Amino acid sequence: MDKITIKNLEVFCNHGVYKEENILGQKFLVSAELSLSTRKAGLSDALEDSVSYGDVSRLITAEMKKQNDKLLERAAERIAGQILKEFPLIDSVRIEVKKPWAPVMMHLDYASVSIERGWHRVYVGVGSNMGERQAWIDMAAEALRSDGNNRNFRSAQVIETEPYGYLEQDKFLNTVFTFESLYEPEELLLRMQEIEKEAHRERKIHWGPRTLDLDLLLYDNRITESPVLTIPHPEMTKRLFVLIPLCELNPHGVHPLYRKRFAEYKEALEQQENK
Ligand code: AMP
Repeated sequence: MDKITIKNLEVFCNHGVYKEENILGQKFLVSAELSLSTRKAGLSDALEDSVSYGDVSRLITAEMKKQNDKLLERAAERIAGQILKEFPLIDSVRIEVKKPWAPVMMHLDYASVSIERGWHRVYVGVGSNMGERQAWIDMAAEALRSDGNNRNFRSAQVIETEPYGYLEQDKFLNTVFTFESLYEPEELLLRMQEIEKEAHRERKIHWGPRTLDLDLLLYDNRITESPVLTIPHPEMTKRLFVLIPLCELNPHGVHPLYRKRFAEYKEALEQQENK
């Protein structure tokens, strides 16, 4: 990926754990590495096809001066988030905030924090089989679409499917959402669980009726397992109600772990059903 770099932008402001730092202020040096494609600007020679490092430097200065953070981590996090939200051409950023006058009563060149943040492509499976099914799906779509940490939201068509697992229940409406997100996977899972709660979801029967079920199917090509989150979602290749809308949004998608196209899983399940 191409890069635009800003190195050691000097900003005088008041971050720090100590009260004296907040009162007196000190010098900070901020570096930013912006990852984006510069190809279009390289051919057109037009600034509107790229990102102005002057504008980014002004944003960094304003963000550094906006509030007093105790930690460099917090300042770096705010700068990265603001840059990604305000300059849509940028896919990811690396931010380093240096404190050359860090009050540690020893000599050092500087103390610094470096972080890398970016937009992540996400797929979320959606299901509802209780109450106003379409309204619950619309509510979830609106909550995720209007969240400032998400962008470029799209939904596949909603399909009606037979219940899965526990069969004594009403038919489901299912779909898949895709968007880009600044959330880390477990943060996004928590956000999705809040939305499920807003839909008054009650977990009574495993695989039983639910007003709204949101599953994190894919997060870039990330493969991860923790006590609360497994991605790719382990059941996704077995469920036509996931694969049909997923293949509509991403017809050439490949499973990150098994390296097999989702369309192949879908075709195999459809053949099984038609036997
Ligand atoms: P359910 O809503 O019934 O599908 O199950 C939700 C539970 O599965 C929660 O406790 C989550 O922590 C856990 N879980 C693990 N991986 C995922 C995932 N990829 N998406 C959603 N929930 C997950």
